[in-house]
Amino acid sequence: MNIALIAHDHRKDAMVALAHEFKATLARHTLMGTGTTGGRLRQECGLEVELLLSGPLGGDLQIGARLAVGEVDAVIFLRDPMTPQPHEPDINALVRACDVHDVPCATNGSSARILLAHLAAARPA
Ligand code: PGA
Repeated sequence: MNIALIAHDHRKDAMVALAHEFKATLARHTLMGTGTTGGRLRQECGLEVELLLSGPLGGDLQIGARLAVGEVDAVIFLRDPMTPQPHEPDINALVRACDVHDVPCATNGSSARILLAHLAAARPA
């Protein structure tokens, strides 16, 4: 599966912890991430992650555009609900695209764990 990984600044440590926890599962899939999130996952978890633009510079839109043409199968998007984001319209566009195309989108740690646990239990393709 093609999995997109995004975390807002206050959620990046949680994303790194999640990726450590599910590293073996994530490593079986094709990963892409917004610039800073993806860079941390590469450096701190040793995962192979395609780096897209940083979120505020259009990374969420890049993921949304790929998703709209069937190139993203799941999104883990650890959003910060407490901090206004300059690219709020992009964030909404990405989440909307997930709903339009019925692509699973986990926006907090609990739902991300359920999604990743499901993938962990699935047989390798
Ligand atoms: P970043 O982008 O990983 O480049 O920080 C995430 C975001 O803020 O949407």
